[in-house]
Amino acid sequence: MADLPDKTTSFVDWYLEVVEAAGLSDKRYPVKGMNVWTPYGFRARRELDRIMVREIEATGSVPVEFPALIPRTEFQKEGEHIKGFDAQVYWVTRGGDSELDVPLVLRPTSETAMYPVFSLWVRSHRDLPLNVYQIVNTFRYETKTTRPFLRVREIHFFEEHTCQLDEESATVRVRSNLEAFGRMARSFALPFVSVRRPDWDKFPGAFYSVALDIPIGGARTLQIGSVHHYRENFSRPYHIAFEAPDGSQRFVHQTTFGLSERLIGAIVAVHGDAKGAVFPTEVAPYQVVIVPIPSGEKGPEVSQYAEEIARRLTGRGLRVFVDRSDDRPGAKYYRWETAGAPLRLEIGAREAASGTVTAVNRLGTKTKVGPASLEEGVLAALGEFDKALYDRALSAFRNAFSPASTLAELANSTTVRIVAWCGKEPCGRAIESAIDGALLGTPEGELPLPVPSLGPCLACGEASGTGWALAGRPM
Ligand SMILES: [Zn+2]
Repeated sequence: MADLPDKTTSFVDWYLEVVEAAGLSDKRYPVKGMNVWTPYGFRARRELDRIMVREIEATGSVPVEFPALIPRTEFQKEGEHIKGFDAQVYWVTRGGDSELDVPLVLRPTSETAMYPVFSLWVRSHRDLPLNVYQIVNTFRYETKTTRPFLRVREIHFFEEHTCQLDEESATVRVRSNLEAFGRMARSFALPFVSVRRPDWDKFPGAFYSVALDIPIGGARTLQIGSVHHYRENFSRPYHIAFEAPDGSQRFVHQTTFGLSERLIGAIVAVHGDAKGAVFPTEVAPYQVVIVPIPSGEKGPEVSQYAEEIARRLTGRGLRVFVDRSDDRPGAKYYRWETAGAPLRLEIGAREAASGTVTAVNRLGTKTKVGPASLEEGVLAALGEFDKALYDRALSAFRNAFSPASTLAELANSTTVRIVAWCGKEPCGRAIESAIDGALLGTPEGELPLPVPSLGPCLACGEASGTGWALAGRPM
């Protein structure tokens, strides 16, 4: 097998080959940007969904599912929103032989599907908060180059939509979403920054948008999710109003929280290395892969022992795969390293005779486990692997940012830059053109990085009103 392209110098080629070699997605479907979830990729997605559901439901959100088609009349009620999405929507204009009276939009996101119904659900302050989420496919007619998981036209999408009593409660909801994402990100072993996007880059129709960004090498960044505060921007056109305790009619304040399959792309991009993908244990399609190494007459005993170990570990809640193929052990090791399985158990005649296993984690650490407390030993090996993987990601994350104190310094940035910005748009635009990228925004809360003392705005030299901002080149 040929080596993978170099991750640092040829990131995109490396990424595409890893997705392919790991068997996560089949891009041969005959619609551009719409890929097939393979059995292995689907398993990763199922774990991703499980983690998202666990964390969002812990905050009191409940699942719903709205239809995929939205009447044009509803889609067009909020002016900014429609402007932002008009060029990206697929239209359904025919039903069988007839032209539809009202053309239908295939949802690019579900505000305009949900909010007409929210206006029926919300009547009184007792109906609030309304916190619902759905995990559905959404459709966007991407005009940029599509890439599996990172930029697709049919998106596996998590979206939470909430209605709150007032602006303050909506702000609290935004914070709660950011905390929930922090817990999810720990499961994915992904360090990230939350940044409030500048006004010119917020979600269409939002009061403000907080993006979840990760550095992916050089000055490049990837947005892996977002949380938005809508104030009354949607509740007014959609008439989502309630009677307050004092009898007055008020509009709800709304928030949304969006995540997608891009998280799988992010996991590949951040953790993957020269050997292929690397999955943290929580998201791994298979957490433990058993490779039996039958030798001569001990073959049947080895196979039997491998199956027994698989049963015992499955019994402990682990996702286990026994590689029973006829390939040589070396080929199996290679396959599962490429596919990113956290832990491989090598089982030969010696292990079968002693009731042990040889555990090799995806970062190359080898340990003998058993015979006493074999299951605990395997769980401990997974725990050590996760810690080492997170430490590796955290160290890369910390090295991925550096301060810049002049516009000129931004030109040849090899990291995401920490800059002082006064908050004015012309200065923000000047920073963007200097880095040939984007002003990502201002950190929401503490930046999880060491920062120098704040200087004047890079562009105008005035005292920096907003504090730190980040600038980079979004992928
Ligand atoms: Zn300025």
